Amino acid sequence: MPKIIGIDLGTTNSCVAVIEGGTAQVIPNREGGRTTPSVVGFTDKSERLVGQIAKRQAVTNSQNTVYAVKRLIGRKLNSPEVQQAKTLLPYELTASENNDVRIHILGRDYSPPEISAIILQKLKSSAEEFLGEEISDAIITVPAYFDDIQRQATKDAGKIAGLNVSRIINEPTAAALAYGLGKRENEKIAIYDLGGGTFDISILELNDGVFEVLATCGDSFLGGEDFDQKIIDWIVAEFQRENGIDLRNDRLALQRLKEAAERSKCELSTSLEAHINLPFISADRTGPKHFNKTLPRSKFEQMVTDLVERTVEPCQKALWDAKLEPANIDQVILVGGQTRTPLVRERVEKIFGKSPSLEINPDEVVAIGACIQGGVLKGEIKDIILLDVIPLSLGVETHGGLFTKFLDRNTTIPTTKTMVFTTVTDNQSSVEIHVLQGEREIASANRSLAKLELINIPAAPRGVPQIDVTFDIDANGILSVSAKDQSSGQEQSVKVTASSGLSSDEITSIIDEAKLKAEEDRRQKEQAILRNRMEGLFQSTTKTFTEFGWLLSENDQNFARESLKAAKKVFEENNEEQINYRVVMQDLEQAAALLTQAMFSSQASAGGMNESQAGKRESDDPLLSWLNSSTSSDRGKK
Ligand code: ADP
Ligand code: MG
Repeated sequence: MPKIIGIDLGTTNSCVAVIEGGTAQVIPNREGGRTTPSVVGFTDKSERLVGQIAKRQAVTNSQNTVYAVKRLIGRKLNSPEVQQAKTLLPYELTASENNDVRIHILGRDYSPPEISAIILQKLKSSAEEFLGEEISDAIITVPAYFDDIQRQATKDAGKIAGLNVSRIINEPTAAALAYGLGKRENEKIAIYDLGGGTFDISILELNDGVFEVLATCGDSFLGGEDFDQKIIDWIVAEFQRENGIDLRNDRLALQRLKEAAERSKCELSTSLEAHINLPFISADRTGPKHFNKTLPRSKFEQMVTDLVERTVEPCQKALWDAKLEPANIDQVILVGGQTRTPLVRERVEKIFGKSPSLEINPDEVVAIGACIQGGVLKGEIKDIILLDVIPLSLGVETHGGLFTKFLDRNTTIPTTKTMVFTTVTDNQSSVEIHVLQGEREIASANRSLAKLELINIPAAPRGVPQIDVTFDIDANGILSVSAKDQSSGQEQSVKVTASSGLSSDEITSIIDEAKLKAEEDRRQKEQAILRNRMEGLFQSTTKTFTEFGWLLSENDQNFARESLKAAKKVFEENNEEQINYRVVMQDLEQAAALLTQAMFSSQASAGGMNESQAGKRESDDPLLSWLNSSTSSDRGKK
């Protein structure tokens, strides 16, 4: 049965998990990381870099390095969110014909789903390498406030990456799933998610395996990067005071500051002070200048208090929406890397009057929940039903540019609702149904999702025709709207699918391109799998050779020794293109066979293989040792 992977496609970092042998497991990437920076870099050699390697080269290639693309997905260039995000992002934004955001890199425009797909592809291939099988199905999480268009765009990203997205689920719901699995008590939980660039608070109710989102709130411009910025500001001020040089004018220096700031912030989560050492950060006529100072945790906490305080009000608002008091909350769950800062934990404890649960790793909990949902879909995990809500109200534009709500925000999905509308003038032969999402009374202040027109309405005085308009939202939060004239039976419907900002032609061409790239990726993947197998075989054969090599004839001993040497050279030189893995592998396999044969005949004469040796042979299985070694820190260094 094919596996479904769970993906947390984060603004800053992404994470992938899968159910293996009934338990959820995070899948490390090729570099050994359990999360992958959501960063894509393009080099002038038209190479694409993804993850840690892309983040690292951002220093010298900032205009061609895309991060935080999640802020742009499914949005218009002129939307306030994008205009706000634009000031933070070093890469160039443009717009498509209908004003959807595009990212302009090295003379080419990329849509946000295309960039997200590059990240998803990396996660997909990590999973394939790790599991040793093709993966085609995934659950992807999105923030609870994502609207229909953003959800669709996320699905498109999956499609471009060659993934069939079985379900889009809300991040807090996923976190609750990871937390609630196996627990039967009825409880209300608060999920406090402080990531790299966004803050979200959600209140959920867990009831005998049923999850219900009661309320959500947050701040989409508050996160770990603001904490980093405080440290950067401090370094800049200290440096200016001592050397009279403003580092903010030096792009390269700023990038180094950014890295150093994040590193020390993370250090301060466990240590009481962090040493910040930046040699040759600048220079003037008197020579090179260095920065070398210690930042105590107490000082850092002073700097970020206002940021932590900004999370309080959204929490109170969410509680209010859910009609609950802090005392009604049974559990508080922390999500997002930034919640590792002790001051954040302390503040959360004060808001809710109880200490947050530390059971689950905040960076991984969302991906784990997503793969659990995969398990639910496949029937591997039973007794869990997922109730999600719509984050914003949905409705239509009515006469006078007003917004008539159909479904209030926080309505549980899937859901269907029908309302009856009529005409506003005599003999009106058509009506336009303009579907919007938002909370404002004025239609134009809300977000337009789709328009549909119902024509050929039989002539009648105003107010007489009866037009049924139905809103239907499926379990993914995707909306279909239909309109039907009761007298004529005339019907029109629209599924808000093409609204991700990509035409189906565009999607097709992007998929084609992804297919081309997939060939390259597959070759790379094959090479990697072979290399991993070889590594395992090399290790086990070295071990057997050391123990049992003496059993071989002198000729065979030489052969085995030479094959091992050749394999070792391969690992040391690490020259991916030139190596003919297959040839080296063949020799290695033959050496291993000789050893097994020699061992076997010596065992046979000594009375056969006993149990413990049989077991040992199994643990030397190259594939198994590949799996084990893929999580070791050693692998991460390669
Ligand atoms: P997102 O949901 O935005 O993708 P994450 O949940 O991965 O983000 O959180 C990323 C943020 O968490 C970054 O700002 C990172 O610096 C911060 N972070 C990661 N580890 C730690 C730590 N040990 N202490 C403090 N902050 C951390
Ligand atoms: Mg996150």
